[in-house]
Amino acid sequence: MSVTIPDCIFCKIVTKEIPANLIYEDDQVIALKDIHPRAKVHLLLIPRIHVPSLAQLETKHEGLMSHMMLLLPNLAHRQDLHRGFRIIINTGKGGGQEIDHLHMHLLGGPQLPGF
Ligand code: AMP
Ligand code: ZN
Repeated sequence: MSVTIPDCIFCKIVTKEIPANLIYEDDQVIALKDIHPRAKVHLLLIPRIHVPSLAQLETKHEGLMSHMMLLLPNLAHRQDLHRGFRIIINTGKGGGQEIDHLHMHLLGGPQLPGF
């Protein structure tokens, strides 16, 4: 579980080469506040291993993906998002992905705009 890429900003946060204010961490993932929040609550849930995007997932990542999905409502609850939240996974350049290390955006707060 120690795949890291030297020039990847999220790998550097995972290895603590770049300081970050983690709001959650375990052996598989970290969560932190997005540096440019698009909602009152805007977290990023990031796997410790470097997977470039959703499009590169393999069957071996099944456990990691279910771990992340099950964690999201838990993180939302801790942020007091009891009325609901939004998950976004930008995938590839055409999907608006800027950082090529898989991550899930967790957004919430006062009513989010329609999508
Ligand atoms: P995406 O467009 O899905 O690749 O989103 C990347 C997100 O990472 C953007 O919302 C950025 O604001 C966020 N981001 C970039 N650098 C950092 C950082 N050092 N700490 C927290 N969030 C970051
Ligand atoms: Zn990475």
